[in-house]
Amino acid sequence: MKVGKNKVVGMTYILSKDDVNGELVQEVTKDKPFVVLFGVGALLPKFEENLDGLAVGDTFKFSLTSDEAYGQKVPEAIVDLDKKIFEVDGKIDEEFLKVGANIPMQNDQGQPLNGLVLEVGAASVKMDFNHPLAGQALYFTGEVVEVRDASAEELEHGHVHGEGGHHH
Ligand SMILES: [Zn+2]
Repeated sequence: MKVGKNKVVGMTYILSKDDVNGELVQEVTKDKPFVVLFGVGALLPKFEENLDGLAVGDTFKFSLTSDEAYGQKVPEAIVDLDKKIFEVDGKIDEEFLKVGANIPMQNDQGQPLNGLVLEVGAASVKMDFNHPLAGQALYFTGEVVEVRDASAEELEHGHVHGEGGHHH
């Protein structure tokens, strides 16, 4: 069976910045492979293109430009927020709110997103909500470890159930 639309695909991979010698970003190993429903928009299109047609045991290596990956950093995603919103019981936790910290927040629609603290001022906090890999070329190397047909329920939900997938 080959990787393709509506298959459940398990894989291991190593993600590095730029190329094979670049800084390691993430390593997914065989004891906990990344399992995903293929062809439904869960993955970067160019990532899927590179895996399409592979079978279990096939290895892959390819790079994505920043445009093919998470796009460019946009200045609009860097914002100054009122420091008061970080107060808990009228106090700021200086250990939590410090330069370089990644803070889980949510947008206007209530969707979760992480903000990187760039500056902590007297009354405001400058945060970067760009994707951490925006503006970055990526290099993937890995192996396909599982390919199976998705169940009707998985297709209906648009995600994988069971091992490595969603639990309801
Ligand atoms: Zn589900």
